[in-house]
Amino acid sequence: MIRRMADKLGHLGHASLPKVDESDTLSSLGSPTSPNPASYLSQSSYDHRGSISTQATSMSEWSTDKRGFDVHSDMEVVEEERPHPRPKLVSRPRGVYRLSDFIIQRTLGTGSFGRVHLVRSKHNLRFYAIKVLNKDRVVKMKQVEHTNNEQRMLECVQHPFIINLWGYFQDTANLYMVMDFVPGGELFTLLRRSNRFPDPVAKFYAAEVALALNHLHGLGIIYRDLKPENVLLNSDGHIKVADFGFAKAVDTTTWTLCGTPDYLAPEVIGQQRYNKSVDWYALGILIYEMLFGLPPYHQVEQNHLILYDKIQAGPSKVAFPPAAFSDQAKDLIMKLMEGDPSKRFGNMRHGAADVFAHPWFREVDWTRLEAREITAPYLPRIAGEGDASAFDKYPEDDVSSTYGRPTPDLNGSLFPDFEYTAIS
Ligand code: AMP
Repeated sequence: MIRRMADKLGHLGHASLPKVDESDTLSSLGSPTSPNPASYLSQSSYDHRGSISTQATSMSEWSTDKRGFDVHSDMEVVEEERPHPRPKLVSRPRGVYRLSDFIIQRTLGTGSFGRVHLVRSKHNLRFYAIKVLNKDRVVKMKQVEHTNNEQRMLECVQHPFIINLWGYFQDTANLYMVMDFVPGGELFTLLRRSNRFPDPVAKFYAAEVALALNHLHGLGIIYRDLKPENVLLNSDGHIKVADFGFAKAVDTTTWTLCGTPDYLAPEVIGQQRYNKSVDWYALGILIYEMLFGLPPYHQVEQNHLILYDKIQAGPSKVAFPPAAFSDQAKDLIMKLMEGDPSKRFGNMRHGAADVFAHPWFREVDWTRLEAREITAPYLPRIAGEGDASAFDKYPEDDVSSTYGRPTPDLNGSLFPDFEYTAIS
């Protein structure tokens, strides 16, 4: 079954990035002590890990699934039974934007369907990030539902540690989402440059991520793609969780296979229905990766069959070298990586309170942390507004000059919330 699933998963993620200069380590975070994950790091470990989703492939094979789900091609299946209705998601007021409001400066990141650009508003001269998704590619990769989810989830969420969406629109070729520009770059880049984080640094980022997840779960939203690539650092060093491409409002459980292989919970791999506890599982993986420098089931040769076997076997054989992991850190990670979701931390009777009260987080003042009153361990070096030097350079390919050009438009109606403000 695992082989079948590995075959089905199509990669949707970022293009590979150039290798990070290892000489550019952050002395402020301390040098790694033995074991040194740098010695395990292959070239592939420096690359962004792509997100995957079965929605990139035909779902028809799944309709004969032994559980008898009524599976429709290109649709997610959510349980009918709704014992805990989720809170109604309320959209925030948003601005009306069009492409001509902005001057595109450079590319900040790439995905399978488009790019994220640094842009400057012609009106208030402030900098923003605009995510541009090519509609034809979104449709071809069967990501229509996920893309609409991304916009709908972000529109309802407002939290200090989550990216802010200002507005969205479409033209004949593309969808556009206008967000705050988060200038400090990805936690992923900081982690790879540092090899690994000292315990207090990992704890700081983990605690802010836990608050962001708890906020999303309170709104009935599962995030489903936690990884250091999707955690950005603001100018003050606090986090902003980005990329809501797989986020989804769910009353009880869902079962779409999506996420990033290293971070997939065993029940996702096992094609079982799952709930928000997959995010707590991923937090366990993230804490491990921050403290050790690599995720727990990392292999130099990427082989998803072996990876999924290891994930399903559970964390009992995972090594926790004492140089990297305190007893308390290990205990929390094991409780988050628990294979049985009903026994997993964050998903039991006391919910997220179990995570917040765990001894590894003992010294965290959650109220002050959420108010951003705790000084961040690392302050990104930012020369001024609009400085994007924390981001890798991408070939610009003159792609932005094609934006706004009229093209045949077959798919606009699939994205009903995106207005056609761009044509003016
Ligand atoms: P995404 O497709 O949302 O994962 O974005 C691709 C990459 O673009 C991310 O990994 C970031 O490096 C960058 N990025 C996305 N959103 C922002 C933002 N609001 N500010 C700065 N960089 C961003």
